[in-house]
Amino acid sequence: MINDKKVLIIPCSGIGKPIGTVSRETTYEIIENLSKGKAETVCLALLTSQDKETMDKVKDNYVITLDGCAKHCAKKNTEQCGKIPDKNYMILKFAAANPDKKPLGIIEIGKSGNALVKTITDTIVKDVNSLLENKQYAEK
Ligand code: SF4
Repeated sequence: MINDKKVLIIPCSGIGKPIGTVSRETTYEIIENLSKGKAETVCLALLTSQDKETMDKVKDNYVITLDGCAKHCAKKNTEQCGKIPDKNYMILKFAAANPDKKPLGIIEIGKSGNALVKTITDTIVKDVNSLLENKQYAEK
């Protein structure tokens, strides 16, 4: 049964790094196209500064954090607000598993970077649907 919660995709800021751009592009593709109406995002800076409205939204919905690297800024800041993300992904892991899909730059990730975004969105869109259908599945 579909419930009325949304899935919040929270990317790290990752400014100045191609993996940060991939993180944000992945988020936009999901919330604006692939899972429009099911998924939204929040500003990580508002979460970091413990903005009450943002914290309430995070606590009341499912959360998938999307970090560029092992510092896990999105995951850590979400957890500091008292919410354990339902799923957490790291772009570097996807990049390592797909060496032919490398983001080319910070502003323009290019065709191969877009291919990486597609690989990641394929995984996350399945998670969005599973969470909204309350399916049980093992943590990765
Ligand atoms: S997780 Fe890594 S890439 Fe993302 S904001 Fe933190 S340090 Fe930057």
